[in-house]
Amino acid sequence: MEETRPLKLYFIHSLAAGHMIPLCDIATLFVSRGHHVTIISTPSNALTLRKSIPSHPFLLFHTFPFPSEEVGLPDGIENISSVTDADQLVKVMNATTMLQTPIQNFVEENPPDCIVADFLFPWVHDLANNLNIPRLAFNGFSLFTVCALHSSSHSSNSLLSPTLPHSITLNASPPKELAEFLNKYLEMELGSYGLIVNNFAELDGEEYIRYYEKTTGHKAWHLGPASLIPRTPEEKAERGMKSVVSMHECVSWLDSKAENSVVYICFGSLCHFPDKQLYEIACGIEASGHGFIWVVPEKKGKEESKEEEKWMPEGFEERNAEKGMVIRGWAPQLVILNHRAVGAFLSHCGWNSTVEAVSGGVPMITWPVHGEQFYNEKLISEVRGIGVEVGVAEWNSIGFGERQMLVCRDSIERGVRRIMDGGDEAQEVRRRAQEFGKKAREAVGEGGSSHENLTALIHDLTRLRDAKLLS
Ligand code: UDP
Repeated sequence: MEETRPLKLYFIHSLAAGHMIPLCDIATLFVSRGHHVTIISTPSNALTLRKSIPSHPFLLFHTFPFPSEEVGLPDGIENISSVTDADQLVKVMNATTMLQTPIQNFVEENPPDCIVADFLFPWVHDLANNLNIPRLAFNGFSLFTVCALHSSSHSSNSLLSPTLPHSITLNASPPKELAEFLNKYLEMELGSYGLIVNNFAELDGEEYIRYYEKTTGHKAWHLGPASLIPRTPEEKAERGMKSVVSMHECVSWLDSKAENSVVYICFGSLCHFPDKQLYEIACGIEASGHGFIWVVPEKKGKEESKEEEKWMPEGFEERNAEKGMVIRGWAPQLVILNHRAVGAFLSHCGWNSTVEAVSGGVPMITWPVHGEQFYNEKLISEVRGIGVEVGVAEWNSIGFGERQMLVCRDSIERGVRRIMDGGDEAQEVRRRAQEFGKKAREAVGEGGSSHENLTALIHDLTRLRDAKLLS
């Protein structure tokens, strides 16, 4: 059937960088096929997002004022990645709840053909049902992890269900509240028309796609990696937030380094390590003797001068002036991961970071911290063999929770050396990582699996819309 009249889609992102970045990248995929997309956002988030995705006449933002004053937040803090403490985290959550009614009213008055919404907004279910339009859910996880979560429903065991295609034991047991929280939301998303996944079918694997469909009766659409959408180097560098270093500075530093000689170290947008842990990282990376780019989140809320940085071993930056670069704040991660000098990624295994590393063919050194990252670690290390584990045995809470166990400098050094020193294991892991990188790029190209999935999804949505018009 010829798809003539464009679809009208609304994308509703949640207020966290790790969710809104990929969802809005995915929105542009529909635009690139001639469909009309409105991203529902707030002023500060829209400003950031606009800088990192290609502009197009069919891509609009509809913003709702963020209730900063009502919840008691300073202007401009409109997502959980910009908060400075646990109190602000709760305030962003409260603001999110307050946005529900205005968004709902807007959608009811101007209904689209389909809503794509973060799974943290289960109320979109009733909204879409009342309007008789399909809702697609997005949770930002790999399907492997979704399967693992469903299979271990309400369990806080580290040993995952034996019904999964692989026998897997996590390195730490998930906190009971987390398992319950995620399962509640994952159950609710099963009421949607389908799940959009920021991954490509080859990395999750046919076995997990079949497992998901068989055990839930629900459909998953692999449309990623979202990070591979075409964009200018400037858009790449501004993805997520304004970077504290210029892309030029980063690239020219990396240009001066040998191929695969630099470890990139970054723990996403929500990890706040205590000084003692940062100190161990500094010692571990220095002892490994390898080059590095290390992203250390700004100490938010405090006017901390460089002299007061207790986490930095004395003379660390001077000794490593040639070898290392410390970025204090937001880094242009996509630019870094795609540079030939980067040979490994020491990562918290957030799903975006994972799939971005895979797209760049970069092997990972896994250090999960919270959320669903311990599941991602197993996909990376045991299931696909594209990374090695640092050996983290404690699950932390998101944001500003207390940490009991430190990952010591020896484990960090060992993890880095396992990939960066070369050797048979490292070569094999790198070969597989590069192979998956190639598959990722093929998936989003003409005729690739994600490209075809998007065509099929658009076809389905058009059919639903047209059938509704005829009824
Ligand atoms: N990111 C970045 N620069 C940084 C830190 C993070 O560009 O300094 C981006 C990264 O590329 C990824 C996202 O922020 O797209 C983080 O998402 P992820 O799922 O990896 O982790 P989260 O922040 O949700 O824990």
